[in-house]
Amino acid sequence: MNQRKNLLRWIAAGAVVATLTGVGLLRLRQETDGLRNAFSAHYWSERSRGEDLYSDRVAMFKRGPRSLSDICLTIDDGPHPTSANRILDVLKREHVPATFFVVGVRVKEHPEIVRRMLAEGHEVGNHTQDHFRIDKLTATQVRNELENCEINVERATGRRMRLMRPPGMRYNEQDLEIAKSMGYTTIGWNVGAKDYTAAVVAGKLRPHETEKIEDTPTVIAQRVLKQVRNGSIILLHDTPTTAAALPTIIETLRREGYHFRSTAEMLDELPNPVMLAANPPAHIGRLVLHRRPAPWLYGMM
Ligand SMILES: [Zn+2]
Repeated sequence: MNQRKNLLRWIAAGAVVATLTGVGLLRLRQETDGLRNAFSAHYWSERSRGEDLYSDRVAMFKRGPRSLSDICLTIDDGPHPTSANRILDVLKREHVPATFFVVGVRVKEHPEIVRRMLAEGHEVGNHTQDHFRIDKLTATQVRNELENCEINVERATGRRMRLMRPPGMRYNEQDLEIAKSMGYTTIGWNVGAKDYTAAVVAGKLRPHETEKIEDTPTVIAQRVLKQVRNGSIILLHDTPTTAAALPTIIETLRREGYHFRSTAEMLDELPNPVMLAANPPAHIGRLVLHRRPAPWLYGMM
């Protein structure tokens, strides 16, 4: 009898320890944007310097401050004519700003959608010309990928871009330095919806990656909602399923007390604010970023 009691006590104690460990790990994962960070010395060293939010060295924005209930929506891989306008309709109705990381070849096909994005107060960022993984490219190719996307956006809108996101978030140090030298701030994300419909259709994922993906609007919304917390940068894709999930995502997060901000506003809220205009007029952007003014101009500036 006593043995049975002892066994039950051990089982109860084990269950308590397992629950506490589970809760602790969950908290730790939330606090550090993923358990990989939680157990990384590099992450804690960056965090001690405030570089878990923004790294000045490579001009990379990783997340907003944990003390403010502000979040931002970023929408990659468009413009796709079947979904971008639906997404824009929802954003307009809900008065929510977003940042669209566009692909140059698609901008060329649908310049009118990019014009609509800017006209309705959204930000447009560079997601390269062809959506290649830039960590596999040479420095010249990386520069060309960014410049060709710039040319298409400038032709479509007369505006430049100051925000950049590498396709698949694959990059190396040199890529970030190139982007910075071209006047870009690289924008990361810490909440992913795994709404890869467009990528699956384009055959960009390997079979074992597609198997794991369920992408009904409900699943996509739930995936986002359970991860969001103060300072989140949410990554969505320009797809019809995401367009259908967006109203639930926005309404629920608003009800929970979050405020949607543009990327530029979130950058301005950092402990050391980074102030930038996401899409300055093309001629001004060129003058500031690329051209050293003629000596006789110095006195006038
Ligand atoms: Zn992408």
